[in-house]
Amino acid sequence: MANAWERGEGPDELGALLAPPAATVREEWGLECPKCHRDDGLRIECLVVSALSVDGVAPAGDLEWSNGSLCMCNHCEHQDFVLEFRPLSPCIACGDPTPEGMPCPCLEPEEGQ
Ligand SMILES: [Zn+2]
Ligand SMILES: [Zn+2]
Repeated sequence: MANAWERGEGPDELGALLAPPAATVREEWGLECPKCHRDDGLRIECLVVSALSVDGVAPAGDLEWSNGSLCMCNHCEHQDFVLEFRPLSPCIACGDPTPEGMPCPCLEPEEGQ
């Protein structure tokens, strides 16, 4: 029986291997520096539960950060909240500029804050 190569189909696994994962930090996380617009040198201030011992401190939990965490750009040393690093793109519904990765207020159910 001819294998996939001989039939000229090519295995799907190869395509999966060749396909780049997320190409950029912006694509993966929706973040880029608002000043120099680079996304490959960002640092975020994270919280992590850590275990104390006589030998030191070791991370013992997941990293936590939010739009209110501090974010820094290695290239231009710009520093601001994570929310400010979300590029604005027009909302699909109302067209208002909306931070990437965030729902536009027009899509949220109305409720008193
Ligand atoms: Zn920058
Ligand atoms: Zn909207």
